[in-house]
Formats: sequence, structure tokens, C-alpha cells
Amino acid sequence: EKAATTLHALIRAGSDEATALSSPGGVPLSFGALRALTERTIVALNAQGIGRGDRVGIVLGNGPEMAAAFIAVAAGTTSAPLNPAYKADEFAFYLTDLNARLLIVAEGDGSPAVAVAERLGLPVARLHPTPEEGAGSFTLSFGDMPGGAPARGGPAEPDDVALVLHTSGTTSRPKIVPLSQRNVCASACNIRTALAFTSEDRGLNIMPLFHIHGLIAGILAPLAAGGQVSCTTGFNALKFFGWMSEVRPTWYTAVPTMHQAILGRASRNAEIIKANPLRFIRSSSSSMPPQVMQEIEAVFGAPLIEAYGMTEAAHQMASNPLPPRPHYAGSVGIAAGPEIAIVDEDGEPLPAGETGEIVIRGDNVMTGYENNEAANASAFTRQGWFRTGDQGTLSEDGYLRITGRLKEIINRGGEKISPREVDEVLMDHPAVSQCVTFAMPHDKLGEDVVAAVVLREGESIPEKDLRGFASERLAPFKVPAKIVFLEEIPKGATGKLQRIGLAEKLGLA
Ligand code: ATP
Ligand code: MG
Repeated sequence: EKAATTLHALIRAGSDEATALSSPGGVPLSFGALRALTERTIVALNAQGIGRGDRVGIVLGNGPEMAAAFIAVAAGTTSAPLNPAYKADEFAFYLTDLNARLLIVAEGDGSPAVAVAERLGLPVARLHPTPEEGAGSFTLSFGDMPGGAPARGGPAEPDDVALVLHTSGTTSRPKIVPLSQRNVCASACNIRTALAFTSEDRGLNIMPLFHIHGLIAGILAPLAAGGQVSCTTGFNALKFFGWMSEVRPTWYTAVPTMHQAILGRASRNAEIIKANPLRFIRSSSSSMPPQVMQEIEAVFGAPLIEAYGMTEAAHQMASNPLPPRPHYAGSVGIAAGPEIAIVDEDGEPLPAGETGEIVIRGDNVMTGYENNEAANASAFTRQGWFRTGDQGTLSEDGYLRITGRLKEIINRGGEKISPREVDEVLMDHPAVSQCVTFAMPHDKLGEDVVAAVVLREGESIPEKDLRGFASERLAPFKVPAKIVFLEEIPKGATGKLQRIGLAEKLGLA
């Protein structure tokens, strides 16, 4: 099958009558209707002077309208979905930084984004859902618009920016990532191929639609195969199994913390699980603990396929293959579209089995961050590979293992320590439920190792005993100089562990 290079072409994968989008309990929206909605939206935006390359901020709750608006707006202009939970200052920062020309919000929505847009002189369009015409269907009404014909109207071309997002900000301030039509479609088609999607597949989307994971893996990849997606209002462990019995999905994708929450409610929903066999379950965006993977596979009787993604790659870089090819706990699988290599500090390739920086190259990878010369200067190797900032190894047979993030490596007087290795050792102690290892400033060594630990309910263990446990399993320089016990580990906005800055947060620096 020829891979689409524009969204306009990508949504041509399904037949006119085939369902593209739906919502639990809602009226399905066919591919024909999605195409018509997309055409109408491009014409409406063009009539208001908004055309190719113009950025449109989209602030909508999760659901089919968000999915449809993302596609329709991106097919002729540039979609910039923003987290509806942002506060006024965050909206002001992102709308300005992204150079938005229009803001779309739902009718009746009192989001602080509206007041911010008014203050910035940014026109606001209201989205009226028309669910009776199909899940995700909508019309737009415009307020005061500058008008006039856009510089460039009609459907977007492959090199136009389709989507602007920011990285999660785990290791530094979030960076603005412009993704072209080609980038977005390449990634969607790579996922389609890796997961062998067909028009028979039915997805259940629980991922937020203001991040790359949900937009590409949750929505576009199945559509690229002419398959359908049921869009929920967002992850909710209490509602998950109800949605499952209503929608009867063939697969879903989520982040590890969601999988854990789903597992927590699985035993009382055994009937629903049994009545609804899944082809596979996908996990991405942070590392899947092997115990959770085993439990998911046992409970659902389906393979847990872990994949590796990042914003700059329009999500997916590597994915475990489907059976009968093997998938492994602790591995993010094989290159799934782009080329992947491991390089040393000078960007020179390393042989299989050696640890270095993971670099990638392919049609799904952005050409550079926006307004960030400093980041771009170090983001690519001389040979044009994108540096992921992640550390890993490739096996002889091409399976990638992520060993950590380069910026999080602890430098203890010249000895390099991977915080994940220390986490894994402490997690093996039966009293430990969660662990995050990080660097603390040290007068003589520069940095020293600290671990923050959450104990299992009802457990207690003296710090020196836990350090003793670590000493039996780690070289002395890797043993945490200090272990602090916490009720909860502070996380970033996307639920990822943030090792950088944790020492300050916990008053240790
Ligand atoms: P920032 O770049 O702003 O510091 P971020 O890297 O967390 O934030 P994202 O683009 O959302 O922003 O996340 C991509 C990163 O998530 C990858 O570089 C990698 O470190 C991590 N990641 C993604 N998938 C996996 C996985 N399956 N296992 C381990 N880590 C993963
Ligand atoms: Mg990153």
C-alpha cells in the first residue's frame, strides 16, 4: 500500500460507508462524512483568512470532536492542540510562542484560554458539536475575524507543518516541535504496519489528544488502515470496562500508569475481559515494568506490545513485533519505520551490545525545534541523525533496550551511574513499591546518588538496612548515599518521573 504524505490523503483509506470515528454509545461517523467535514472546515477557515501554515490553537476536551477537529484543521492549516487544564499564564505562553492565528474552543466553554485570546487580540472560533450527524461532527462559528483571502488556501502539501506540539518538559523547558504532514503521516503509517491494522480493527482511545501518543497511535494509525476508533472523554479506570463492553475494541494503547490502574480493576471485570478478546494491548511513552507486563498478558490473554516514542519523531520510533515474532519485557522492540543506531559522544556508530545514545533518521522525524537555535545546534549529528537524548543498546537481532536518559546520568566524581539501574535494584526489595534515583550536589564529588522510595502499605524498613540490601547488589560507588522515604513521588505534568530538579524539590540541594 502506498503511504499517504498528507492528512487529506490519509483519511482516504476507508470506504465512504466505513466507520472512521465513534464514541461509546454515539452515532458513528463514516469516512465519507469525515472527508466532507474536513473539506467544509478547510473552506470555512480559508474564508476567514486562515490557510496553509497558519497555526490554530485547539482547546477542547477529549472526545470525538477533538479528534475530528485535529484532523480537519490540520488537513488545511496547522493544528496546535493545547491541554485544556492549562491556567491563563500557560495559555498566554503557548499561544504567543506558537504564533497562533486563531483559537478554537467549544461553545459555552469558559476556559481561561478565551480571556487570554481576547487580551492577545487573537480571534476565537466556537465549535458546535452536531453528534446527531456522527460522533465528532461539528460546525464552527467565527467572531470578529481579520478576513481576506489566506496567503495559501486549499489542502496542505507534504512539507507544510500539520501539527505543533511541545515536548513534555521532563528534562528541560518544553521545546516547540513542528511536525510536517509527511512526518505525521509517516509515523501513522509506520504504526499501522507494525501493528498490522486493517479495516476490521476497532480502537478504544483513552489517551489525551493534546499529546503525540494519542493523536498518532490512538487516532491516525488505525484510520490509515481504514479502521475505526471510539473516542472516550479520557482515561477513567472506573469507566474503562464499561466502555470495553460497549465498544468491543480489538486493541487499545496507553501509558504504563494507566495499565496499572486498569489492572487494579481487572479482577472484578473478568466477565467483560473474557467476552472481549483483544488482538494486542500497546504501551508507550515511559518504561513498562516487567511485572505489570506479565500481569496484563495473563489477565487479558493478549500480547503486551511495548513501543518507544517521542514528540520529535511524531511518536513512534521502535515497536515490539506482534506474535509469532518475539516481544520482550524490558525491550522497546525493533526499528519500526525510521533507522535506529547507537552512537558514542562524537556521533560515531557503536557495535551491537554497546551502550550509547540512541539516534534516529526517517520521514517521521522533525527537521528542527522552533525558535530554539541552542537546542538545534546539538540535536543532530554531523551525519544528520537526530539525537534522542536517551541511552540504550541494540542487540544483535535489532532489539532496542532503553537504559536511561543521558541528562539524568549521575556523575559521581567521574563515575557515571544510571539511575534506572539503582531503581531496579531497590524495587526488588519486597518492602519497596516505587523508587526514583537522582543526583544530589556534593562538594567534592560534584554529584552523589540519592534514592527516594515509597514503601508498600504497612511496610517499614530502616534506611541503613535498605542501603545494605543495595550494597549486596551494586558496586559501592552506585549505592545511594542517602535514601529518603516519601508518601508519594512528585511527577511532571504528564505523569513522568522527573529526576532533574528533584533534589531541590526535596530540599536536598
Ligand atoms: P523533554 O524532551 O521536554 O525533556 P520528554 O522527552 O519526556 O520531555 P516526550 O517527547 O513526551 O517528552 O517523551 C519522549 C521520551 O519518553 C523519550 O525520549 C523517552 O525518554 C521516553 N519514552 C518513550 N517511550 C518509552 C518507553 N517505552 N520506555 C522508556 N522510555 C520511553
Ligand atoms: Mg525529550
